[in-house]
Amino acid sequence: MRVTVFSAQSFDQRFLDAALAETPFEPVYHPVALSLQTVALAEHARAVCVFVNDVLDAPVLEALHGFGVQIVVLRCAGYNQVDLDAARRLGLAVARVPGYSPQAVAEHTLALVMTLNRHTHRAFNRVREGNFNLDGLLGVTLHGRTVGVVGTGRIGLATARIFAGMGCRVLGYDPAPAPAFEAVGELVDFDTLLARADIVSLHCPLADATHHLINAATLARMKPGAMLVNTSRGGLIDTRAVIEALRTHRLGALAIDVYEQESELFFRDHSQEIINDDMFARLAMFPNVLMTGHQGFFTEEALDEIARTTRDNLLALSQGHDCANALVRPGDRA
Ligand code: NAD
Repeated sequence: MRVTVFSAQSFDQRFLDAALAETPFEPVYHPVALSLQTVALAEHARAVCVFVNDVLDAPVLEALHGFGVQIVVLRCAGYNQVDLDAARRLGLAVARVPGYSPQAVAEHTLALVMTLNRHTHRAFNRVREGNFNLDGLLGVTLHGRTVGVVGTGRIGLATARIFAGMGCRVLGYDPAPAPAFEAVGELVDFDTLLARADIVSLHCPLADATHHLINAATLARMKPGAMLVNTSRGGLIDTRAVIEALRTHRLGALAIDVYEQESELFFRDHSQEIINDDMFARLAMFPNVLMTGHQGFFTEEALDEIARTTRDNLLALSQGHDCANALVRPGDRA
Protein backbone atom coordinates (compact mmCIF):
# COMPACT_ATOMS: atom_id res chain seq x y z
CA MET A 1 0.00 0.00 0.00
CA ARG A 2 1.79 3.10 -1.23
CA VAL A 3 2.09 6.11 1.06
CA THR A 4 3.45 9.27 -0.60
CA VAL A 5 5.37 11.26 1.99
CA PHE A 6 5.60 15.00 1.22
CA SER A 7 8.08 17.50 2.72
CA ALA A 8 10.23 14.49 3.61
CA GLN A 9 13.58 15.20 5.25
CA SER A 10 16.25 12.59 5.96
CA PHE A 11 15.10 12.40 9.58
CA ASP A 12 11.50 11.68 8.49
CA GLN A 13 12.76 8.82 6.35
CA ARG A 14 14.88 7.40 9.18
CA PHE A 15 12.06 7.33 11.73
CA LEU A 16 9.21 6.40 9.33
CA ASP A 17 11.22 3.56 7.73
CA ALA A 18 11.76 2.09 11.20
CA ALA A 19 8.10 2.47 12.22
CA LEU A 20 6.65 1.18 8.94
CA ALA A 21 8.90 -1.90 8.68
CA GLU A 22 6.76 -5.05 8.75
CA THR A 23 3.57 -3.16 7.87
CA PRO A 24 1.79 -3.27 4.49
CA PHE A 25 2.79 0.36 3.84
CA GLU A 26 5.41 1.32 1.25
CA PRO A 27 6.53 4.89 1.86
CA VAL A 28 7.73 6.92 -1.14
CA TYR A 29 9.58 10.04 -0.01
CA HIS A 30 9.54 13.43 -1.73
CA PRO A 31 11.33 16.48 -0.31
CA VAL A 32 8.89 18.87 -1.99
CA ALA A 33 5.83 20.20 -0.19
CA LEU A 34 2.36 19.12 -1.27
CA SER A 35 0.65 21.76 -3.44
CA LEU A 36 -1.39 21.86 -6.61
CA GLN A 37 1.92 21.78 -8.54
CA THR A 38 3.19 18.62 -6.81
CA VAL A 39 0.00 16.71 -6.07
CA ALA A 40 0.53 14.39 -9.08
CA LEU A 41 3.33 12.70 -7.09
CA ALA A 42 0.53 11.05 -5.10
CA GLU A 43 -0.77 9.16 -8.15
CA HIS A 44 -1.19 5.44 -7.30
CA ALA A 45 -0.89 6.13 -3.56
CA ARG A 46 -3.55 5.04 -1.10
CA ALA A 47 -2.40 7.56 1.48
CA VAL A 48 -0.38 10.76 1.75
CA CYS A 49 1.71 11.74 4.75
CA VAL A 50 2.19 15.49 5.21
CA PHE A 51 3.71 18.11 7.52
CA VAL A 52 3.06 21.67 8.71
CA ASN A 53 3.68 23.60 5.48
CA ASP A 54 1.98 21.25 3.02
CA VAL A 55 -1.09 22.74 1.37
CA LEU A 56 -4.30 20.75 1.82
CA ASP A 57 -6.93 23.19 0.58
CA ALA A 58 -10.01 22.09 -1.37
CA PRO A 59 -8.35 22.02 -4.86
CA VAL A 60 -5.43 19.90 -3.56
CA LEU A 61 -7.76 17.54 -1.68
CA GLU A 62 -9.94 17.19 -4.81
CA ALA A 63 -6.85 16.33 -6.85
CA LEU A 64 -5.74 13.78 -4.24
CA HIS A 65 -9.20 12.23 -4.29
CA GLY A 66 -9.05 12.13 -8.10
CA PHE A 67 -5.79 10.15 -7.90
CA GLY A 68 -7.47 7.60 -5.62
CA VAL A 69 -5.95 8.74 -2.33
CA GLN A 70 -8.20 7.80 0.60
CA ILE A 71 -6.18 8.71 3.67
CA VAL A 72 -4.27 11.83 4.78
CA VAL A 73 -2.01 11.44 7.80
CA LEU A 74 -0.41 14.53 9.33
CA ARG A 75 2.98 14.23 11.04
CA CYS A 76 2.02 17.14 13.29
CA ALA A 77 -0.51 18.29 15.88
CA GLY A 78 -1.76 21.51 14.25
CA TYR A 79 -4.16 21.07 11.31
CA ASN A 80 -4.82 24.67 10.26
CA GLN A 81 -3.40 23.78 6.83
CA VAL A 82 -6.22 21.28 6.06
CA ASP A 83 -9.68 22.13 4.71
CA LEU A 84 -11.50 19.58 6.87
CA ASP A 85 -14.92 20.41 5.34
CA ALA A 86 -13.57 19.60 1.88
CA ALA A 87 -12.03 16.35 3.18
CA ARG A 88 -15.38 15.38 4.71
CA ARG A 89 -17.23 16.18 1.48
CA LEU A 90 -14.77 14.03 -0.51
CA GLY A 91 -14.79 11.15 2.00
CA LEU A 92 -11.04 11.51 2.67
CA ALA A 93 -10.01 10.27 6.13
CA VAL A 94 -7.64 12.62 7.99
CA ALA A 95 -5.67 11.92 11.17
CA ARG A 96 -2.99 13.82 13.06
CA VAL A 97 -0.46 13.24 15.82
CA PRO A 98 -1.99 15.21 18.67
CA GLY A 99 0.33 14.88 21.61
CA TYR A 100 3.86 13.90 20.68
CA SER A 101 6.28 14.99 23.33
CA PRO A 102 4.72 18.31 24.39
CA GLN A 103 7.81 18.59 26.60
CA ALA A 104 9.97 18.87 23.47
CA VAL A 105 8.25 22.11 22.44
CA ALA A 106 8.05 23.36 26.03
CA GLU A 107 11.80 22.76 26.48
CA HIS A 108 12.52 24.62 23.24
CA THR A 109 10.42 27.51 24.54
CA LEU A 110 12.64 27.55 27.63
CA ALA A 111 15.77 27.41 25.45
CA LEU A 112 14.60 30.44 23.46
CA VAL A 113 13.74 32.43 26.58
CA MET A 114 17.01 31.59 28.33
CA THR A 115 19.11 32.34 25.25
CA LEU A 116 17.42 35.62 24.49
CA ASN A 117 17.39 36.76 28.11
CA ARG A 118 21.04 35.92 28.88
CA HIS A 119 22.37 36.42 25.32
CA THR A 120 24.26 33.13 25.32
CA HIS A 121 24.18 33.08 21.49
CA ARG A 122 26.11 36.36 21.41
CA ALA A 123 28.40 35.35 24.28
CA PHE A 124 29.32 32.14 22.42
CA ASN A 125 30.59 34.13 19.42
CA ARG A 126 32.35 36.75 21.53
CA VAL A 127 34.27 34.26 23.66
CA ARG A 128 35.39 32.34 20.55
CA GLU A 129 36.87 35.59 19.27
CA GLY A 130 38.61 36.33 22.56
CA ASN A 131 36.16 39.11 23.49
CA PHE A 132 35.19 38.79 27.16
CA ASN A 133 33.42 42.15 27.39
CA LEU A 134 30.01 41.86 29.10
CA ASP A 135 28.45 44.97 27.52
CA GLY A 136 25.09 44.10 25.96
CA LEU A 137 24.81 40.74 27.73
CA LEU A 138 22.77 41.93 30.72
CA GLY A 139 19.69 39.82 31.46
CA VAL A 140 17.09 39.61 34.21
CA THR A 141 16.64 36.94 36.89
CA LEU A 142 13.62 34.93 35.80
CA HIS A 143 12.85 33.71 39.32
CA GLY A 144 9.98 35.91 40.53
CA ARG A 145 9.10 37.20 37.04
CA THR A 146 5.63 36.67 35.57
CA VAL A 147 5.15 34.35 32.59
CA GLY A 148 1.84 34.44 30.70
CA VAL A 149 0.91 31.21 28.92
CA VAL A 150 -1.69 31.66 26.16
CA GLY A 151 -3.29 28.24 25.63
CA THR A 152 -3.07 25.81 28.53
CA GLY A 153 -3.25 22.59 26.48
CA ARG A 154 -0.51 19.96 26.37
CA ILE A 155 2.39 22.25 25.44
CA GLY A 156 1.13 25.25 27.40
CA LEU A 157 0.78 23.15 30.55
CA ALA A 158 4.25 21.61 30.12
CA THR A 159 5.68 25.13 29.60
CA ALA A 160 3.82 26.46 32.65
CA ARG A 161 5.26 23.65 34.80
CA ILE A 162 8.82 24.43 33.67
CA PHE A 163 8.52 28.14 34.49
CA ALA A 164 6.72 27.43 37.78
CA GLY A 165 9.64 25.13 38.65
CA MET A 166 12.02 28.05 38.08
CA GLY A 167 10.13 30.15 40.60
CA CYS A 168 8.24 32.27 38.07
CA ARG A 169 4.69 33.45 38.67
CA VAL A 170 2.63 31.77 35.95
CA LEU A 171 -0.56 33.20 34.46
CA GLY A 172 -2.71 31.29 31.98
CA TYR A 173 -5.39 32.27 29.51
CA ASP A 174 -7.50 29.72 27.67
CA PRO A 175 -11.21 29.77 26.73
CA ALA A 176 -11.28 26.05 27.71
CA PRO A 177 -8.49 25.77 30.28
CA ALA A 178 -6.94 22.48 31.35
CA PRO A 179 -8.07 21.80 34.97
CA ALA A 180 -4.49 20.72 35.80
CA PHE A 181 -3.30 24.28 35.13
CA GLU A 182 -4.69 25.58 38.40
CA ALA A 183 -2.09 23.56 40.32
CA VAL A 184 0.63 25.47 38.45
CA GLY A 185 -0.63 29.00 37.93
CA GLU A 186 -3.46 31.48 37.95
CA LEU A 187 -6.08 31.57 35.20
CA VAL A 188 -6.85 35.13 34.13
CA ASP A 189 -8.49 36.84 31.16
CA PHE A 190 -6.41 37.68 28.10
CA ASP A 191 -6.08 41.40 28.86
CA THR A 192 -4.94 40.74 32.44
CA LEU A 193 -2.31 38.30 31.15
CA LEU A 194 -1.05 40.85 28.61
CA ALA A 195 -0.90 43.61 31.21
CA ARG A 196 0.92 41.57 33.88
CA ALA A 197 3.26 39.19 32.05
CA ASP A 198 6.98 39.90 31.63
CA ILE A 199 7.04 37.04 29.13
CA VAL A 200 4.02 36.14 26.95
CA SER A 201 4.30 32.66 25.44
CA LEU A 202 1.83 31.49 22.77
CA HIS A 203 0.60 27.88 22.82
CA CYS A 204 -2.84 28.03 21.19
CA PRO A 205 -3.71 26.64 17.76
CA LEU A 206 -3.97 28.82 14.67
CA ALA A 207 -7.62 29.23 13.63
CA ASP A 208 -9.77 32.08 12.31
CA ALA A 209 -10.33 33.26 15.90
CA THR A 210 -6.62 33.29 16.75
CA HIS A 211 -5.21 34.64 13.46
CA HIS A 212 -3.15 37.75 14.37
CA LEU A 213 -4.06 37.33 18.05
CA ILE A 214 -0.98 39.47 18.64
CA ASN A 215 -1.54 42.66 16.66
CA ALA A 216 -1.03 46.42 17.13
CA ALA A 217 -3.93 46.64 19.61
CA THR A 218 -2.90 43.65 21.77
CA LEU A 219 0.79 44.64 21.64
CA ALA A 220 -0.24 48.03 23.05
CA ARG A 221 -1.87 46.25 26.01
CA MET A 222 1.31 44.29 26.85
CA LYS A 223 3.62 45.37 29.63
CA PRO A 224 6.19 47.77 28.10
CA GLY A 225 9.45 45.94 27.46
CA ALA A 226 7.93 42.45 27.75
CA MET A 227 9.25 39.45 25.81
CA LEU A 228 6.97 37.71 23.29
CA VAL A 229 7.57 34.02 22.49
CA ASN A 230 5.85 32.07 19.72
CA THR A 231 6.51 28.35 19.30
CA SER A 232 2.98 27.66 18.07
CA ARG A 233 2.11 28.96 14.57
CA GLY A 234 3.40 32.03 12.73
CA GLY A 235 -0.07 33.30 11.85
CA LEU A 236 -0.82 34.01 15.53
CA ILE A 237 1.35 37.12 15.18
CA ASP A 238 0.91 40.12 12.88
CA THR A 239 4.60 40.33 11.99
CA ARG A 240 4.38 43.88 10.66
CA ALA A 241 2.87 45.11 13.96
CA VAL A 242 5.53 43.25 15.95
CA ILE A 243 8.32 44.85 13.91
CA GLU A 244 6.83 48.26 14.65
CA ALA A 245 6.56 47.45 18.39
CA LEU A 246 10.23 46.34 18.40
CA ARG A 247 11.31 49.42 16.46
CA THR A 248 9.62 51.73 18.99
CA HIS A 249 10.99 49.70 21.98
CA ARG A 250 7.38 48.95 23.08
CA LEU A 251 8.18 45.24 22.81
CA GLY A 252 11.37 44.31 24.68
CA ALA A 253 12.31 41.10 22.87
CA LEU A 254 10.92 38.52 20.48
CA ALA A 255 11.65 34.79 20.24
CA ILE A 256 9.98 32.82 17.45
CA ASP A 257 10.26 29.25 16.25
CA VAL A 258 7.49 29.83 13.72
CA TYR A 259 6.96 32.60 11.19
CA GLU A 260 3.97 33.71 9.16
CA GLN A 261 5.72 33.23 5.80
CA GLU A 262 7.79 30.23 6.90
CA SER A 263 6.56 27.92 4.13
CA GLU A 264 8.77 29.87 1.67
CA LEU A 265 11.88 29.46 3.84
CA PHE A 266 11.90 26.84 6.55
CA PHE A 267 13.29 23.30 6.41
CA ARG A 268 15.63 24.16 3.49
CA ASP A 269 19.12 25.66 3.13
CA HIS A 270 18.94 29.16 1.59
CA SER A 271 22.43 30.19 2.70
CA GLN A 272 23.68 30.60 -0.90
CA GLU A 273 20.69 32.69 -1.97
CA ILE A 274 19.40 36.20 -1.43
CA ILE A 275 16.38 35.82 0.82
CA ASN A 276 13.59 37.78 -0.77
CA ASP A 277 11.54 38.43 2.35
CA ASP A 278 11.86 41.94 3.74
CA MET A 279 10.00 41.21 6.98
CA PHE A 280 12.27 38.27 7.76
CA ALA A 281 15.33 40.40 6.91
CA ARG A 282 14.10 43.21 9.19
CA LEU A 283 13.51 40.79 12.08
CA ALA A 284 16.97 39.30 11.60
CA MET A 285 18.52 42.76 12.06
CA PHE A 286 17.18 43.30 15.61
CA PRO A 287 19.65 42.33 18.35
CA ASN A 288 16.70 41.45 20.62
CA VAL A 289 15.09 38.96 18.21
CA LEU A 290 15.90 35.26 18.24
CA MET A 291 14.54 33.02 15.51
CA THR A 292 14.72 29.27 14.99
CA GLY A 293 13.30 27.39 12.00
CA HIS A 294 10.39 25.40 13.45
CA GLN A 295 12.47 22.98 15.47
CA GLY A 296 10.42 22.89 18.68
CA PHE A 297 9.32 19.32 17.90
CA PHE A 298 12.82 18.21 16.87
CA THR A 299 13.91 15.64 19.44
CA GLU A 300 14.59 11.92 19.07
CA GLU A 301 11.65 11.10 21.33
CA ALA A 302 9.19 13.31 19.47
CA LEU A 303 10.23 12.01 16.02
CA ASP A 304 9.90 8.44 17.24
CA GLU A 305 6.45 9.18 18.65
CA ILE A 306 5.35 10.97 15.45
CA ALA A 307 6.42 8.00 13.31
CA ARG A 308 4.76 5.39 15.55
CA THR A 309 1.51 7.33 15.84
CA THR A 310 1.50 7.91 12.06
CA ARG A 311 1.87 4.15 11.57
CA ASP A 312 -1.00 3.45 14.02
CA ASN A 313 -3.19 6.07 12.32
CA LEU A 314 -2.49 4.49 8.90
CA LEU A 315 -3.27 1.00 10.22
CA ALA A 316 -6.51 2.07 11.92
CA LEU A 317 -7.82 4.13 9.00
CA SER A 318 -6.87 1.61 6.29
CA GLN A 319 -8.45 -1.29 8.23
CA GLY A 320 -11.61 0.64 9.14
CA HIS A 321 -10.83 0.54 12.86
CA ASP A 322 -11.62 3.33 15.28
CA CYS A 323 -8.89 5.99 15.23
CA ALA A 324 -8.78 8.31 18.23
CA ASN A 325 -6.58 10.76 16.30
CA ALA A 326 -8.94 11.08 13.34
CA LEU A 327 -10.05 14.59 12.39
CA VAL A 328 -12.24 13.12 9.65
CA ARG A 329 -13.24 9.45 9.84
CA PRO A 330 -13.72 7.28 6.73
CA GLY A 331 -17.52 7.29 7.20
CA ASP A 332 -17.83 11.00 7.94
CA ARG A 333 -18.64 11.98 4.32
CA ALA A 334 -20.86 15.09 4.46
P1 NAD B 1 -3.61 21.47 22.59
O1 NAD B 1 -4.80 21.23 21.69
O2 NAD B 1 -3.27 20.44 23.62
O3 NAD B 1 -3.79 22.87 23.34
C1 NAD B 1 -4.19 24.06 22.70
C2 NAD B 1 -4.93 24.89 23.74
O4 NAD B 1 -5.19 26.18 23.16
C3 NAD B 1 -6.30 24.30 24.14
O5 NAD B 1 -6.36 24.17 25.56
C4 NAD B 1 -7.31 25.32 23.61
O6 NAD B 1 -8.46 25.45 24.45
C5 NAD B 1 -6.47 26.59 23.64
N1 NAD B 1 -7.01 27.69 22.85
C6 NAD B 1 -7.82 27.64 21.77
N2 NAD B 1 -8.11 28.89 21.37
C7 NAD B 1 -7.48 29.75 22.22
C8 NAD B 1 -7.40 31.16 22.33
N3 NAD B 1 -8.04 31.96 21.48
N4 NAD B 1 -6.64 31.68 23.30
C9 NAD B 1 -5.98 30.89 24.19
N5 NAD B 1 -6.03 29.54 24.14
C10 NAD B 1 -6.76 28.98 23.17
O7 NAD B 1 -2.39 21.73 21.61
P2 NAD B 1 -0.82 21.55 21.94
O8 NAD B 1 -0.42 20.14 21.68
O9 NAD B 1 -0.54 22.16 23.25
O10 NAD B 1 -0.19 22.42 20.76
C11 NAD B 1 -0.36 23.83 20.72
C12 NAD B 1 0.12 24.35 19.39
O11 NAD B 1 1.54 24.20 19.32
C13 NAD B 1 -0.39 23.55 18.17
O12 NAD B 1 -1.64 24.06 17.73
C14 NAD B 1 0.68 23.75 17.15
O13 NAD B 1 0.31 24.83 16.32
C15 NAD B 1 1.92 24.13 17.97
N6 NAD B 1 3.03 23.17 17.84
C16 NAD B 1 4.26 23.65 17.49
C17 NAD B 1 5.34 22.78 17.38
C18 NAD B 1 6.73 23.25 17.02
O14 NAD B 1 7.56 22.44 16.60
N7 NAD B 1 7.05 24.52 17.19
C19 NAD B 1 5.14 21.40 17.62
C20 NAD B 1 3.88 20.96 17.99
C21 NAD B 1 2.82 21.85 18.09
